[in-house]
Amino acid sequence: MAAPVPISEVKGNTRESRTAAHSHIKGLGLSNDGRASSGAGGFIGQAAAREACGLVVDLVRAKKMSGRAVLLAGGPGTGKTALALAVSQELGTKVPFCPIVGSEIYSAEIKKTEALMENFRRAIGLRVKETKEVYEGEVTELTPEEAENPLGGYGRTISHLLISLKSARGTKKLRLDPSIYEAIQKERVRLGDVVYIEANTGAVKRVGRSDAYATEFDLEAEEYVPIPKGDVRKKKEIVQDVTLHDLDVANARPQGGQDIMSMMGQLMKPKKTEITEKLRLEINKVVNKYIDQGVADLVPGVLFIDEVHMLDLEAFTFLNRALESPLSPLVILASNRGLTHIRGSSSLPPSAHGIPPDLLARLLIIPTHPYAPPEIRSIIKTRAKTEGLNISEPALDKVSLLGEKVSLRYALQLLAPASVLAKVGGREAGRIDVDDVTECEELFLDAKRSAQNLGTGDGYIA
Ligand code: ATP
Repeated sequence: MAAPVPISEVKGNTRESRTAAHSHIKGLGLSNDGRASSGAGGFIGQAAAREACGLVVDLVRAKKMSGRAVLLAGGPGTGKTALALAVSQELGTKVPFCPIVGSEIYSAEIKKTEALMENFRRAIGLRVKETKEVYEGEVTELTPEEAENPLGGYGRTISHLLISLKSARGTKKLRLDPSIYEAIQKERVRLGDVVYIEANTGAVKRVGRSDAYATEFDLEAEEYVPIPKGDVRKKKEIVQDVTLHDLDVANARPQGGQDIMSMMGQLMKPKKTEITEKLRLEINKVVNKYIDQGVADLVPGVLFIDEVHMLDLEAFTFLNRALESPLSPLVILASNRGLTHIRGSSSLPPSAHGIPPDLLARLLIIPTHPYAPPEIRSIIKTRAKTEGLNISEPALDKVSLLGEKVSLRYALQLLAPASVLAKVGGREAGRIDVDDVTECEELFLDAKRSAQNLGTGDGYIA
Protein backbone atom coordinates (compact mmCIF):
# COMPACT_ATOMS: atom_id res chain seq x y z
CA MET A 1 0.00 0.00 0.00
CA ALA A 2 1.20 3.48 -0.77
CA ALA A 3 2.37 5.65 2.11
CA PRO A 4 -0.34 7.69 3.80
CA VAL A 5 -0.54 11.30 2.76
CA PRO A 6 -0.55 13.92 5.49
CA ILE A 7 -3.66 16.01 5.14
CA SER A 8 -1.60 19.14 5.28
CA GLU A 9 -0.25 18.29 1.82
CA VAL A 10 -3.54 19.24 0.27
CA LYS A 11 -3.05 22.95 0.18
CA GLY A 12 -5.78 25.51 0.50
CA ASN A 13 -6.49 28.30 -1.91
CA THR A 14 -4.56 31.06 -0.23
CA ARG A 15 -2.61 32.68 -3.10
CA GLU A 16 -1.08 34.82 -0.45
CA SER A 17 1.16 37.01 -2.52
CA ARG A 18 -1.88 38.40 -4.32
CA THR A 19 -3.66 39.38 -1.16
CA ALA A 20 -0.62 40.52 0.86
CA ALA A 21 -1.29 44.19 0.03
CA HIS A 22 -4.71 43.82 1.63
CA SER A 23 -3.71 42.12 4.87
CA HIS A 24 -5.23 45.02 6.85
CA ILE A 25 -8.66 44.25 5.37
CA LYS A 26 -10.66 42.04 7.71
CA GLY A 27 -14.16 42.44 6.30
CA LEU A 28 -16.51 45.15 5.04
CA GLY A 29 -16.72 46.75 8.51
CA LEU A 30 -20.51 47.10 8.55
CA SER A 31 -22.65 47.53 11.64
CA ASN A 32 -25.67 45.31 12.33
CA ASP A 33 -27.97 47.54 10.33
CA GLY A 34 -25.64 47.21 7.32
CA ARG A 35 -24.15 50.72 7.57
CA ALA A 36 -20.42 51.27 7.02
CA SER A 37 -18.63 52.14 10.27
CA SER A 38 -15.57 54.30 9.83
CA GLY A 39 -12.29 52.43 9.98
CA ALA A 40 -13.96 49.12 10.83
CA GLY A 41 -12.69 45.90 9.22
CA GLY A 42 -9.61 47.89 8.18
CA PHE A 43 -11.71 49.82 5.65
CA ILE A 44 -11.59 53.57 5.36
CA GLY A 45 -14.30 55.49 3.46
CA GLN A 46 -15.91 54.03 0.30
CA ALA A 47 -19.03 53.73 2.48
CA ALA A 48 -21.68 53.32 -0.25
CA ALA A 49 -19.69 50.60 -2.06
CA ARG A 50 -19.14 48.72 1.20
CA GLU A 51 -22.83 48.88 2.03
CA ALA A 52 -23.74 47.69 -1.48
CA CYS A 53 -21.26 44.82 -1.08
CA GLY A 54 -22.94 44.01 2.24
CA LEU A 55 -26.22 43.60 0.37
CA VAL A 56 -24.52 41.30 -2.11
CA VAL A 57 -23.35 39.16 0.82
CA ASP A 58 -26.98 38.99 2.02
CA LEU A 59 -28.11 37.99 -1.49
CA VAL A 60 -25.51 35.24 -1.66
CA ARG A 61 -26.60 33.93 1.75
CA ALA A 62 -30.24 33.99 0.61
CA LYS A 63 -29.13 32.12 -2.55
CA LYS A 64 -30.43 34.91 -4.75
CA MET A 65 -27.28 35.61 -6.75
CA SER A 66 -27.28 32.60 -9.03
CA GLY A 67 -26.94 33.49 -12.69
CA ARG A 68 -25.79 36.97 -11.66
CA ALA A 69 -22.51 38.68 -10.94
CA VAL A 70 -21.13 41.92 -9.51
CA LEU A 71 -19.13 44.60 -11.31
CA LEU A 72 -17.02 47.04 -9.31
CA ALA A 73 -16.51 50.06 -11.51
CA GLY A 74 -14.01 52.72 -10.51
CA GLY A 75 -10.54 54.16 -11.00
CA PRO A 76 -7.29 52.43 -10.10
CA GLY A 77 -6.56 52.09 -6.40
CA THR A 78 -10.12 52.80 -5.30
CA GLY A 79 -10.31 49.56 -3.35
CA LYS A 80 -11.99 47.20 -5.82
CA THR A 81 -9.77 44.25 -4.96
CA ALA A 82 -10.01 45.09 -1.26
CA LEU A 83 -13.84 45.10 -1.50
CA ALA A 84 -13.94 41.74 -3.28
CA LEU A 85 -11.63 40.22 -0.65
CA ALA A 86 -13.80 41.67 2.12
CA VAL A 87 -16.90 40.11 0.56
CA SER A 88 -15.23 36.69 0.70
CA GLN A 89 -14.29 37.32 4.34
CA GLU A 90 -17.88 38.27 5.17
CA LEU A 91 -19.11 35.03 3.61
CA GLY A 92 -17.28 33.10 6.32
CA THR A 93 -13.88 31.90 7.46
CA LYS A 94 -11.91 29.80 4.99
CA VAL A 95 -14.09 30.89 2.11
CA PRO A 96 -11.92 30.73 -1.02
CA PHE A 97 -10.92 34.00 -2.65
CA CYS A 98 -9.44 33.66 -6.11
CA PRO A 99 -8.20 36.92 -7.63
CA ILE A 100 -7.14 37.01 -11.28
CA VAL A 101 -6.52 39.66 -13.91
CA GLY A 102 -8.40 39.37 -17.22
CA SER A 103 -5.20 39.09 -19.27
CA GLU A 104 -4.07 36.04 -17.28
CA ILE A 105 -6.29 33.69 -19.24
CA TYR A 106 -4.18 34.09 -22.38
CA SER A 107 -1.33 31.64 -22.34
CA ALA A 108 0.42 29.42 -24.82
CA GLU A 109 -0.11 26.32 -22.70
CA ILE A 110 -3.79 26.21 -21.93
CA LYS A 111 -6.96 27.36 -23.65
CA LYS A 112 -8.49 30.51 -22.21
CA THR A 113 -11.76 28.81 -21.30
CA GLU A 114 -9.71 26.10 -19.58
CA ALA A 115 -7.86 28.78 -17.60
CA LEU A 116 -11.16 30.36 -16.61
CA MET A 117 -12.59 26.99 -15.58
CA GLU A 118 -9.54 26.31 -13.43
CA ASN A 119 -10.03 29.60 -11.60
CA PHE A 120 -13.74 28.96 -11.15
CA ARG A 121 -12.80 25.75 -9.38
CA ARG A 122 -10.19 27.49 -7.24
CA ALA A 123 -13.01 29.68 -5.98
CA ILE A 124 -15.25 26.80 -4.86
CA GLY A 125 -14.42 25.20 -1.55
CA LEU A 126 -15.37 21.90 -0.05
CA ARG A 127 -15.39 21.39 3.70
CA VAL A 128 -14.88 17.73 4.43
CA LYS A 129 -15.57 16.24 7.84
CA GLU A 130 -13.77 13.08 8.87
CA THR A 131 -13.33 11.23 12.13
CA LYS A 132 -9.71 10.43 12.77
CA GLU A 133 -7.51 9.25 15.56
CA VAL A 134 -5.53 12.21 16.78
CA TYR A 135 -3.42 13.58 19.58
CA GLU A 136 -4.91 16.73 20.95
CA GLY A 137 -2.50 19.20 22.44
CA GLU A 138 -1.78 22.76 23.25
CA VAL A 139 1.40 24.23 21.84
CA THR A 140 3.58 25.47 24.66
CA GLU A 141 7.15 26.41 25.39
CA LEU A 142 9.37 24.84 28.01
CA THR A 143 9.33 26.44 31.42
CA PRO A 144 12.73 27.79 32.53
CA GLU A 145 13.19 24.70 34.77
CA GLU A 146 12.49 22.41 31.89
CA ALA A 147 14.95 24.36 29.83
CA GLU A 148 17.66 23.26 32.27
CA ASN A 149 17.14 19.80 30.89
CA PRO A 150 20.22 18.74 28.88
CA LEU A 151 18.05 18.30 25.81
CA GLY A 152 16.95 21.90 26.08
CA GLY A 153 19.33 24.85 25.49
CA TYR A 154 18.32 28.28 26.18
CA GLY A 155 16.60 30.54 23.69
CA ARG A 156 13.56 29.91 21.56
CA THR A 157 14.63 26.85 19.66
CA ILE A 158 12.65 23.82 18.65
CA SER A 159 13.80 22.11 21.82
CA HIS A 160 11.68 24.66 23.64
CA LEU A 161 8.64 24.00 21.58
CA LEU A 162 6.35 21.41 23.00
CA ILE A 163 2.95 19.98 22.64
CA SER A 164 1.13 19.42 25.92
CA LEU A 165 -0.99 16.37 25.38
CA LYS A 166 -3.91 16.15 27.73
CA SER A 167 -5.15 12.71 28.75
CA ALA A 168 -7.13 11.19 31.58
CA ARG A 169 -3.86 10.61 33.42
CA GLY A 170 -2.79 14.22 33.24
CA THR A 171 -0.71 16.32 30.94
CA LYS A 172 2.29 15.03 29.14
CA LYS A 173 4.73 17.31 27.41
CA LEU A 174 6.46 16.13 24.30
CA ARG A 175 9.03 17.64 22.04
CA LEU A 176 8.14 17.88 18.41
CA ASP A 177 9.24 15.67 15.61
CA PRO A 178 10.68 17.92 12.85
CA SER A 179 8.14 16.68 10.31
CA ILE A 180 5.34 17.62 12.67
CA TYR A 181 7.06 20.88 13.34
CA GLU A 182 7.01 21.62 9.61
CA ALA A 183 3.34 20.83 9.43
CA ILE A 184 2.77 23.12 12.40
CA GLN A 185 4.44 25.96 10.56
CA LYS A 186 2.29 25.33 7.49
CA GLU A 187 -0.81 25.61 9.63
CA ARG A 188 0.51 28.92 11.02
CA VAL A 189 0.17 27.66 14.53
CA ARG A 190 1.08 30.03 17.34
CA LEU A 191 2.04 29.39 20.92
CA GLY A 192 -1.02 28.66 22.99
CA ASP A 193 -3.01 27.25 20.07
CA VAL A 194 -4.71 23.90 20.36
CA VAL A 195 -3.80 21.39 17.65
CA TYR A 196 -4.71 17.91 16.56
CA ILE A 197 -1.88 15.73 15.34
CA GLU A 198 -3.15 12.88 13.29
CA ALA A 199 -1.92 9.61 14.79
CA ASN A 200 -1.13 7.81 11.54
CA THR A 201 0.23 10.52 9.35
CA GLY A 202 1.51 13.26 11.66
CA ALA A 203 -0.67 15.77 9.86
CA VAL A 204 -1.40 18.83 11.95
CA LYS A 205 -4.68 20.68 12.17
CA ARG A 206 -5.14 23.86 14.16
CA VAL A 207 -8.45 23.74 16.01
CA GLY A 208 -8.14 26.54 18.54
CA ARG A 209 -6.62 29.97 18.15
CA SER A 210 -4.79 31.71 20.92
CA ASP A 211 -4.46 35.46 20.97
CA ALA A 212 -1.87 35.31 23.68
CA TYR A 213 1.01 35.52 21.22
CA ALA A 214 1.00 37.75 18.20
CA THR A 215 3.61 36.05 16.08
CA GLU A 216 3.83 32.74 14.36
CA PHE A 217 6.77 30.41 14.95
CA ASP A 218 9.93 31.09 13.12
CA LEU A 219 12.29 28.62 14.69
CA GLU A 220 14.97 26.27 13.51
CA ALA A 221 14.46 22.56 14.06
CA GLU A 222 17.21 21.21 16.28
CA GLU A 223 16.26 18.28 18.44
CA TYR A 224 13.25 16.14 18.74
CA VAL A 225 11.68 13.22 20.48
CA PRO A 226 8.95 11.48 18.51
CA ILE A 227 5.48 11.37 19.96
CA PRO A 228 4.91 7.88 21.37
CA LYS A 229 1.73 5.97 20.77
CA GLY A 230 -0.18 5.61 23.99
CA ASP A 231 -2.95 6.83 26.15
CA VAL A 232 -3.35 10.22 24.60
CA ARG A 233 -4.96 9.28 21.27
CA LYS A 234 -8.54 10.38 20.75
CA LYS A 235 -11.13 10.08 18.03
CA LYS A 236 -11.93 13.53 16.72
CA GLU A 237 -13.76 15.04 13.83
CA ILE A 238 -11.29 16.76 11.55
CA VAL A 239 -12.51 19.42 9.22
CA GLN A 240 -10.53 19.86 6.05
CA ASP A 241 -10.97 22.74 3.62
CA VAL A 242 -10.03 22.16 -0.01
CA THR A 243 -11.08 23.64 -3.31
CA LEU A 244 -12.45 21.77 -6.30
CA HIS A 245 -9.24 22.69 -8.06
CA ASP A 246 -7.22 21.00 -5.29
CA LEU A 247 -9.26 17.86 -5.92
CA ASP A 248 -8.70 18.12 -9.68
CA VAL A 249 -4.95 18.34 -9.09
CA ALA A 250 -4.94 15.53 -6.52
CA ASN A 251 -6.78 13.29 -8.96
CA ALA A 252 -4.52 14.12 -11.82
CA ARG A 253 -1.56 13.06 -9.68
CA PRO A 254 -2.85 10.46 -7.24
CA GLN A 255 -0.59 9.87 -4.25
CA GLY A 256 -2.31 7.18 -2.25
CA GLY A 257 -3.56 7.16 1.31
CA GLN A 258 -6.64 6.17 3.19
CA ASP A 259 -8.35 9.35 4.23
CA ILE A 260 -11.19 10.74 2.18
CA MET A 261 -9.06 13.32 0.48
CA SER A 262 -6.60 10.76 -0.85
CA MET A 263 -9.33 8.29 -1.69
CA MET A 264 -11.03 10.99 -3.68
CA GLY A 265 -7.68 11.41 -5.36
CA GLN A 266 -7.75 7.79 -6.47
CA LEU A 267 -11.10 7.69 -8.14
CA MET A 268 -9.56 7.77 -11.52
CA LYS A 269 -6.82 5.58 -12.84
CA PRO A 270 -3.40 6.40 -11.41
CA LYS A 271 -0.69 8.05 -13.52
CA LYS A 272 -3.10 10.56 -14.95
CA THR A 273 -1.40 13.90 -15.23
CA GLU A 274 -3.90 16.08 -17.03
CA ILE A 275 -7.07 17.60 -15.69
CA THR A 276 -9.74 16.79 -18.23
CA GLU A 277 -13.40 17.69 -18.53
CA LYS A 278 -14.21 14.04 -17.87
CA LEU A 279 -12.17 14.01 -14.68
CA ARG A 280 -13.92 17.17 -13.45
CA LEU A 281 -17.32 15.60 -14.09
CA GLU A 282 -16.27 12.50 -12.12
CA ILE A 283 -15.10 14.70 -9.27
CA ASN A 284 -18.34 16.66 -9.29
CA LYS A 285 -20.22 13.38 -9.01
CA VAL A 286 -18.23 12.26 -5.98
CA VAL A 287 -18.45 15.69 -4.40
CA ASN A 288 -22.22 15.64 -4.81
CA LYS A 289 -22.33 12.19 -3.26
CA TYR A 290 -20.34 13.34 -0.24
CA ILE A 291 -22.58 16.38 0.10
CA ASP A 292 -25.68 14.16 0.01
CA GLN A 293 -24.15 11.88 2.64
CA GLY A 294 -23.46 14.86 4.87
CA VAL A 295 -19.71 14.17 4.83
CA ALA A 296 -18.93 17.39 3.02
CA ASP A 297 -20.35 20.88 2.55
CA LEU A 298 -19.91 23.09 -0.45
CA VAL A 299 -18.33 26.47 0.31
CA PRO A 300 -18.79 28.72 -2.71
CA GLY A 301 -16.19 31.51 -2.58
CA VAL A 302 -15.38 34.55 -4.66
CA LEU A 303 -13.79 34.66 -8.11
CA PHE A 304 -12.48 38.18 -8.67
CA ILE A 305 -11.63 39.15 -12.26
CA ASP A 306 -9.83 42.49 -12.38
CA GLU A 307 -9.53 44.37 -15.69
CA VAL A 308 -12.47 42.49 -17.08
CA HIS A 309 -12.22 44.38 -20.39
CA MET A 310 -9.23 42.14 -21.16
CA LEU A 311 -11.61 39.20 -21.66
CA ASP A 312 -12.84 38.50 -25.20
CA LEU A 313 -16.20 37.35 -26.59
CA GLU A 314 -15.37 33.67 -26.19
CA ALA A 315 -14.41 34.18 -22.55
CA PHE A 316 -17.57 36.18 -21.91
CA THR A 317 -19.67 33.40 -23.42
CA PHE A 318 -17.98 30.94 -21.08
CA LEU A 319 -18.60 33.26 -18.15
CA ASN A 320 -22.29 33.58 -18.97
CA ARG A 321 -22.68 29.83 -19.02
CA ALA A 322 -20.59 29.21 -15.92
CA LEU A 323 -22.73 31.63 -13.92
CA GLU A 324 -25.69 29.35 -14.53
CA SER A 325 -23.98 26.32 -13.02
CA PRO A 326 -25.13 25.19 -9.58
CA LEU A 327 -21.42 24.91 -8.75
CA SER A 328 -20.65 28.58 -9.25
CA PRO A 329 -18.77 30.90 -6.93
CA LEU A 330 -19.77 34.55 -6.57
CA VAL A 331 -18.15 36.27 -9.55
CA ILE A 332 -16.96 39.83 -8.96
CA LEU A 333 -15.67 41.69 -11.99
CA ALA A 334 -13.76 44.96 -11.88
CA SER A 335 -13.13 47.62 -14.47
CA ASN A 336 -11.68 51.09 -14.65
CA ARG A 337 -12.75 51.58 -18.28
CA GLY A 338 -15.87 53.36 -19.48
CA LEU A 339 -17.25 52.78 -22.95
CA THR A 340 -14.83 50.59 -24.88
CA HIS A 341 -14.64 47.90 -27.58
CA ILE A 342 -15.18 44.30 -26.56
CA ARG A 343 -11.86 42.62 -27.13
CA GLY A 344 -11.64 40.69 -30.39
CA SER A 345 -14.85 42.18 -31.81
CA SER A 346 -14.04 45.51 -33.38
CA SER A 347 -17.07 45.13 -35.69
CA LEU A 348 -19.42 45.46 -32.71
CA PRO A 349 -20.16 48.91 -31.27
CA PRO A 350 -18.32 49.85 -28.07
CA SER A 351 -19.99 48.56 -24.93
CA ALA A 352 -19.94 49.69 -21.29
CA HIS A 353 -16.67 48.50 -19.64
CA GLY A 354 -15.96 46.36 -22.75
CA ILE A 355 -18.57 43.83 -21.53
CA PRO A 356 -21.18 42.39 -23.94
CA PRO A 357 -24.80 43.48 -23.30
CA ASP A 358 -26.02 39.99 -22.34
CA LEU A 359 -23.54 39.84 -19.47
CA LEU A 360 -24.11 43.49 -18.53
CA ALA A 361 -27.78 42.61 -18.04
CA ARG A 362 -26.80 40.13 -15.33
CA LEU A 363 -24.60 42.49 -13.38
CA LEU A 364 -25.11 44.42 -10.19
CA ILE A 365 -22.85 47.41 -10.80
CA ILE A 366 -21.24 49.07 -7.78
CA PRO A 367 -19.23 52.26 -8.33
CA THR A 368 -16.10 53.05 -6.33
CA HIS A 369 -14.99 56.65 -5.92
CA PRO A 370 -11.62 58.39 -5.57
CA TYR A 371 -10.56 59.03 -1.98
CA ALA A 372 -10.48 62.36 -0.21
CA PRO A 373 -7.05 63.43 1.14
CA PRO A 374 -7.79 62.49 4.80
CA GLU A 375 -8.91 59.01 3.63
CA ILE A 376 -5.70 58.54 1.66
CA ARG A 377 -3.71 59.52 4.76
CA SER A 378 -5.67 57.06 6.89
CA ILE A 379 -5.18 54.19 4.42
CA ILE A 380 -1.43 54.85 4.25
CA LYS A 381 -1.20 55.05 8.03
CA THR A 382 -3.09 51.75 8.39
CA ARG A 383 -0.79 50.06 5.86
CA ALA A 384 2.34 51.37 7.59
CA LYS A 385 1.06 49.97 10.87
CA THR A 386 0.15 46.60 9.33
CA GLU A 387 3.59 46.32 7.75
CA GLY A 388 5.15 47.17 11.12
CA LEU A 389 6.75 50.36 9.76
CA ASN A 390 7.58 53.39 11.83
CA ILE A 391 6.89 56.69 10.07
CA SER A 392 7.14 60.30 11.28
CA GLU A 393 4.08 62.57 10.92
CA PRO A 394 5.75 64.88 8.35
CA ALA A 395 6.83 61.82 6.31
CA LEU A 396 3.28 60.49 6.47
CA ASP A 397 2.05 63.86 5.18
CA LYS A 398 4.49 63.65 2.30
CA VAL A 399 3.52 60.10 1.33
CA SER A 400 -0.15 61.08 1.57
CA LEU A 401 0.44 64.01 -0.76
CA LEU A 402 1.96 61.60 -3.28
CA GLY A 403 -1.13 59.42 -2.82
CA GLU A 404 -3.27 62.38 -3.83
CA LYS A 405 -1.08 63.74 -6.62
CA VAL A 406 0.14 60.49 -8.16
CA SER A 407 -1.81 57.47 -6.96
CA LEU A 408 -2.59 55.57 -3.79
CA ARG A 409 -0.85 52.51 -5.18
CA TYR A 410 2.34 54.47 -5.84
CA ALA A 411 2.31 56.00 -2.37
CA LEU A 412 1.76 52.64 -0.70
CA GLN A 413 4.58 51.10 -2.70
CA LEU A 414 7.07 53.68 -1.46
CA LEU A 415 6.58 52.69 2.19
CA ALA A 416 8.73 49.57 2.19
CA PRO A 417 11.77 51.01 0.37
CA ALA A 418 11.54 54.21 2.44
CA SER A 419 11.72 52.10 5.56
CA VAL A 420 14.83 50.34 4.25
CA LEU A 421 16.44 53.72 3.63
CA ALA A 422 15.47 54.85 7.13
CA LYS A 423 17.16 51.80 8.63
CA VAL A 424 20.27 52.08 6.46
CA GLY A 425 20.45 55.80 7.27
CA GLY A 426 20.44 54.93 10.97
CA ARG A 427 17.27 56.88 11.80
CA GLU A 428 16.13 56.61 15.37
CA ALA A 429 13.96 53.49 15.79
CA GLY A 430 14.17 53.07 12.00
CA ARG A 431 11.53 55.78 11.67
CA ILE A 432 10.85 56.88 8.07
CA ASP A 433 11.65 60.56 7.68
CA VAL A 434 10.68 63.08 4.96
CA ASP A 435 14.14 62.74 3.38
CA ASP A 436 13.69 58.98 3.00
CA VAL A 437 10.42 59.54 1.16
CA THR A 438 12.00 62.21 -1.06
CA GLU A 439 14.87 59.90 -1.92
CA CYS A 440 12.47 57.05 -2.77
CA GLU A 441 10.43 59.35 -4.92
CA GLU A 442 13.59 60.13 -6.92
CA LEU A 443 14.71 56.51 -7.08
CA PHE A 444 11.35 55.05 -8.09
CA LEU A 445 9.30 56.67 -10.78
CA ASP A 446 5.54 56.56 -11.01
CA ALA A 447 4.08 55.38 -14.32
CA LYS A 448 3.46 58.87 -15.68
CA ARG A 449 6.97 60.16 -15.06
CA SER A 450 8.41 56.93 -16.39
CA ALA A 451 6.43 57.21 -19.63
CA GLN A 452 7.47 60.84 -20.04
CA ASN A 453 11.05 59.75 -19.64
CA LEU A 454 10.80 57.42 -22.60
CA GLY A 455 8.69 59.68 -24.77
CA THR A 456 6.19 58.36 -27.30
CA GLY A 457 6.68 55.72 -29.98
CA ASP A 458 8.95 52.71 -29.93
CA GLY A 459 12.20 54.59 -29.86
CA TYR A 460 14.94 54.21 -27.29
CA ILE A 461 15.74 56.90 -24.79
CA ALA A 462 18.00 59.44 -26.44
P1 ATP B 1 -6.71 48.32 -9.42
O1 ATP B 1 -7.98 48.20 -10.14
O2 ATP B 1 -5.76 49.33 -9.97
O3 ATP B 1 -6.06 46.99 -9.16
P2 ATP B 1 -8.13 48.52 -6.97
O4 ATP B 1 -9.31 49.40 -7.16
O5 ATP B 1 -8.34 47.05 -6.98
O6 ATP B 1 -7.02 48.94 -7.95
P3 ATP B 1 -6.95 48.05 -4.42
O7 ATP B 1 -5.85 47.18 -4.92
O8 ATP B 1 -8.06 47.38 -3.74
O9 ATP B 1 -7.48 48.96 -5.59
O10 ATP B 1 -6.38 49.21 -3.46
C1 ATP B 1 -5.02 49.61 -3.42
C2 ATP B 1 -4.48 49.49 -2.00
O11 ATP B 1 -5.20 50.36 -1.11
C3 ATP B 1 -4.61 48.11 -1.39
O12 ATP B 1 -3.53 47.90 -0.52
C4 ATP B 1 -5.92 48.20 -0.62
O13 ATP B 1 -5.97 47.23 0.40
C5 ATP B 1 -5.86 49.63 -0.09
N1 ATP B 1 -7.20 50.22 0.02
C6 ATP B 1 -7.97 50.63 -0.99
N2 ATP B 1 -9.11 51.14 -0.54
C7 ATP B 1 -9.09 51.05 0.80
C8 ATP B 1 -9.98 51.45 1.84
N3 ATP B 1 -11.16 52.04 1.56
N4 ATP B 1 -9.63 51.22 3.11
C9 ATP B 1 -8.45 50.64 3.39
N5 ATP B 1 -7.56 50.25 2.46
C10 ATP B 1 -7.87 50.46 1.18
